[in-house]
Amino acid sequence: MNIEEKISNIDGAEYESNKDLTKFSTMRLKCRGDLITVRSVDALRSTLVALTRNSIKYRVLGMGANQLLSETSDIPYIKLALPFDKSYLQEVRDLYILPASVTLSVLSSHAVKNGLRGWESFTGIPATLGGAVFMNAGTNLGEIGPLIKRVFLIDKNGEERIVTMDEGSFSYRKQNFLNDGDFIYQIEMKHFGVDESVSKQIKEYLELRNRTQPLKEWTCGCVFKNNKNKRTCLAGKFIDIMGLKGLTYNGMRISPKHANFMENTDSSSHKDVVALINIIKDELLLQYGVEFETEVKL
Ligand SMILES: Cc1cc2nc3c(=O)[nH]c(=O)nc-3n(C[C@H](O)[C@H](O)[C@H](O)COP(=O)(O)OP(=O)(O)OC[C@H]3O[C@@H](n4cnc5c(N)ncnc54)[C@H](O)[C@@H]3O)c2cc1C
Repeated sequence: MNIEEKISNIDGAEYESNKDLTKFSTMRLKCRGDLITVRSVDALRSTLVALTRNSIKYRVLGMGANQLLSETSDIPYIKLALPFDKSYLQEVRDLYILPASVTLSVLSSHAVKNGLRGWESFTGIPATLGGAVFMNAGTNLGEIGPLIKRVFLIDKNGEERIVTMDEGSFSYRKQNFLNDGDFIYQIEMKHFGVDESVSKQIKEYLELRNRTQPLKEWTCGCVFKNNKNKRTCLAGKFIDIMGLKGLTYNGMRISPKHANFMENTDSSSHKDVVALINIIKDELLLQYGVEFETEVKL
């Protein structure tokens, strides 16, 4: 079966073969692959059914802020692009029903304007809402998990499921309720009341991030997870004291500004980041006997 033909017949789904996907990740790694853009929930369902019936696996692509895309991929990427009318955010609501493809920056603007308590937790994180829920994205101000009430998803067979969140739904930088192939398309989200001081808190935290993180460079955020058992065990600190800041491998550089970030300074690819990650891991083990798990999805 010609998958391109099948997908192209689905209203609201667009198939692009062997597309240059370099701009589809925040690290701008060289990448070519097949991309399916879906613009409606029905199109998403039909796409997942068509792929699964033909035993074709797929990868879900949000903003690509936490994924290292490989140079070539024979597995298609699916990107959700659901319509969203921003006038929905003109008023404060108790509960928000939002498409997974909306970006956190749009939600942060609403939070600054209205002082939504709890929404400060995702200040400055580049992400789609779906990607942020998948990762339980968070900052020193908290995590997105506690703000999520229900998650609407479609599984690889096209079956719809609505999952109500409970205490076990999230842990550090991960969710615990999705199965392989599940695609989040909508999220119900709450806040913890309106509090004017939240606006100031968000602005100050954004300034702090700008000062301490290389936000203008091409990065994927923090490469390593901090060691959750020891709150003081910060991956960036170890990399810094080993004197590795600025170390560059094929155009991929350990950020001089924040050692847990890597910057693509040229036109690096997946293998270059992996090589640099392995250099750091070896040094950490050799010099300090510590191991850090990668936060970024390899
Ligand atoms: C400059 C910078 C700063 C960052 N700072 C932070 C930070 O402070 N805190 C933090 O937690 N993270 C941070 N990150 C990492 C990143 O922003 C988060 O991990 C974010 O949640 C990724 O969202 P995304 O939409 O880009 O998802 P992607 O990177 O595209 O995908 C991440 C994972 O989620 C899955 N996924 C995405 N969308 C869906 C969906 N709709 N349904 C099912 N699965 C899905 C993907 O398949 C993949 O496995 C930073 C990144 C950058 C570049």
